[in-house]
Amino acid sequence: MKKAPVHKIIHHSLVDGPGNRTSIFLQGCNLRCAYCHNPETQKICKDISSPEIKWMTANEVFYEVEKDIPFIRGITLSGGESTLYPEFLQELFVLGQKAGLSCLIDTNGTIDLSLYPELMEVCDGAMLDVKAWDKEKFQRLTGEDNETVKKNLKFLADINKLEEIRIVCIPEEVDTEDILKGVKATIGDKIRNVNLRLIKFRNHGVIGRLKNTSSPSEEYMSSLKGKALEMGFRVIKN
Ligand code: SF4
Repeated sequence: MKKAPVHKIIHHSLVDGPGNRTSIFLQGCNLRCAYCHNPETQKICKDISSPEIKWMTANEVFYEVEKDIPFIRGITLSGGESTLYPEFLQELFVLGQKAGLSCLIDTNGTIDLSLYPELMEVCDGAMLDVKAWDKEKFQRLTGEDNETVKKNLKFLADINKLEEIRIVCIPEEVDTEDILKGVKATIGDKIRNVNLRLIKFRNHGVIGRLKNTSSPSEEYMSSLKGKALEMGFRVIKN
């Protein structure tokens, strides 16, 4: 069985997908977002456990999940970037689905999910971060390219496994309306069936370039929500 570096397991989470879920946070990320509030999960580590990180098989993680089964609807794999460990995810989701749990990934979308059909077979859906639409803006924010994010957006919508679109809103940095237009142009009417979560930026825990940037106002967030609703998005409360 493949092992993955587990940063932490939250046994009962109400913010990582629908219902009460066990959330598993894997260590390591391929982006360096200027607003990352989990910078300690970014470093990709070698196959060595430490007090903070434990390399675990899917069976070992599922042993922890099983304790929660009477109380949870499913599991969510987050990070860092969980899709850096596709074989581990697949093995864990097979166990989760056998136990009747819904199995979701929370992803930055930079790993091409169409290359992992066996994983997508057992994955019930993805919560996809769309951090910027414009290539240069994405690069400035994360250090990388967003072509694969756009490809994953379309792929997930086509196979009906786009559970949620997430946008972190920072007026100085992120053109949220541009993202909404790009998403709509890419997946069309499917925007009506996919949850859209507009996340208000908070600088708590941020050590990157935006550490001193303030949160947007409630008025700004309401106006974005209004625009998204007008465009036909199904906006859910953060
Ligand atoms: S994708 Fe998420 S974990 Fe990775 S750097 Fe960006 S905010 Fe942090």
